[in-house]
Amino acid sequence: MFTTFQNEPYVNFSEPEPRAKMLAALQQVENELGKTYLPVIGGKRIETGQIATSVNPANRTQVVGYVHEATESLAESAVQSGKEAFRSWSRVPVEVRARYLVKVAALLRRRIYEFSAWLVLESSKSWLEAYADTAEAIDFLEFYAREAVRVCRPHPTTPFTGEENEVMYLPIGVGVSISPWNFPLAIAAGMAVSAAVVGNTVIMKPAEQTPIVAAKFMELLEEASLPAGVINFLPGRGEIVGEYLTGHPEIAFVSFTGSRDVGLHIHQRAATHQKGQRGLKRAILEMGGKDATIVDEGVDLDVAAEGVVAGAFGFQGQKCSACSRLIAHTDIYDALLEKVVERTKRLTLGNPASPNNVNMGAVIDEEAYQKIRAYIEIGRQEGRVMLDGSGADASEGWFLAPSIIADVDAKARIAQEEIFGPVLAVIRAENFDHALEIANDTDYGLTGALYSNNREHLERARHEFMVGNLYLNRKCTGALVDVQPFGGFKMSGTDSKAGGRDYLHHFLLGKSVSERW
Ligand code: NAD
Repeated sequence: MFTTFQNEPYVNFSEPEPRAKMLAALQQVENELGKTYLPVIGGKRIETGQIATSVNPANRTQVVGYVHEATESLAESAVQSGKEAFRSWSRVPVEVRARYLVKVAALLRRRIYEFSAWLVLESSKSWLEAYADTAEAIDFLEFYAREAVRVCRPHPTTPFTGEENEVMYLPIGVGVSISPWNFPLAIAAGMAVSAAVVGNTVIMKPAEQTPIVAAKFMELLEEASLPAGVINFLPGRGEIVGEYLTGHPEIAFVSFTGSRDVGLHIHQRAATHQKGQRGLKRAILEMGGKDATIVDEGVDLDVAAEGVVAGAFGFQGQKCSACSRLIAHTDIYDALLEKVVERTKRLTLGNPASPNNVNMGAVIDEEAYQKIRAYIEIGRQEGRVMLDGSGADASEGWFLAPSIIADVDAKARIAQEEIFGPVLAVIRAENFDHALEIANDTDYGLTGALYSNNREHLERARHEFMVGNLYLNRKCTGALVDVQPFGGFKMSGTDSKAGGRDYLHHFLLGKSVSERW
């Protein structure tokens, strides 16, 4: 029996010991930069010759590593290898499959600073954000291990005289997990191991921007002796290998986290029957957000401002859950805005690999940098610029300081479109009803927060604020595994509730078995 699940605790980097460990890990990882990583199919490393370079977003000349990107024919090999491995893996007792995950969690916990350092260097996360990403990966491993044992045991039915009846849950087959760059470890790991622990085999396709962290995770799976082919590692371009696999007749499920446009495209592709396809392809799609924090009158504005700033600018605003709209009651609008601006000015920006333990690093790449700058330009036409972060020194890395644009119309582009960067639109609401109407008036419905002391407003938000993850009197980011299961409404996705107690059912077939005596 495993012990009861507990979330991995965070550390305080202002204390000497965590700080010293992080600096040592950064040094160790910097000594390991520049290596080449290969796709792993059926336990074998395969060179493709198509080499992509992963660089540190905060220091563009620093190569984190090289990766051989997969081709379509390698993607096909991955499907066949997954099919082969499924034959035995699907029959391995669930307790045994779960132990592999618990072992991987133990290995990762021993190297939590090292993996966090890889995240700092490849995705420009601050130390705390990187540590939280690694801790979440550990949580997913530990939690899904326990959940698999619970979910895969036979489920009771109402007794029927003369028969034995049960409902059992079976794996579906070989699937693909397609992950984004913004949680390079937690999401890549969580999506792959969740499907695998209940007996499926998985092709793990990481984002192009962050293949090295995923390759390091693959090494951990091998160290824990996960059988070959159970999880194949397939770095490569989404529009080539991702496209190939989502349309493959033998792929049973697509587990995707990423942007709305790609998610919608995959939804359609998964729904299209291919020649030779037997079975409906499942699509678990988690997509973007345009998340709002409502601040009602009568609350402690310092508490609200703290939550807004952390939600808006943590990891440079590059979270699907990030607060990108602040909707403030007109009575406290000016006072709150002043506090938010003042707090935001205190955030430090720089290369997170430096010993300074900065609050914010660089944005992920040039494409993101240019896109965010373009939105700041749009924002100039759509509101009053309180802080303009576009002038940060970007000579070494893709740095953008926080931008805050006030007096934005609820229908403005910067209030409707996902920017995915450190840009906050501030919107004035006449009263609570108006605030709620504005909050719900986007295509997205991922996270939302409400600061209020009014019980009626808080209760109404529970039902009327149309988001998958609602936070009352706290910030809208930082969901923890099995504390706040995660997934969005509307165009934010299929509401899969990753890290929750229903999640593993996405990867299972329920089978009713009846034996008459
Ligand atoms: P993205 O959609 O550009 O890429 C995500 C993945 O899809 C990558 O691995 C990419 O290679 C792959 N891909 C691209 N084209 C494909 C295709 N045609 N077929 C198959 N796969 C393809 O997203 P991103 O820029 O990596 O991530 C940022 C986005 O992810 C944001 O919109 C953010 O809100 C969202 N996100 C959502 C959640 C959530 O839980 N809802 C969590 C994290 C990130």
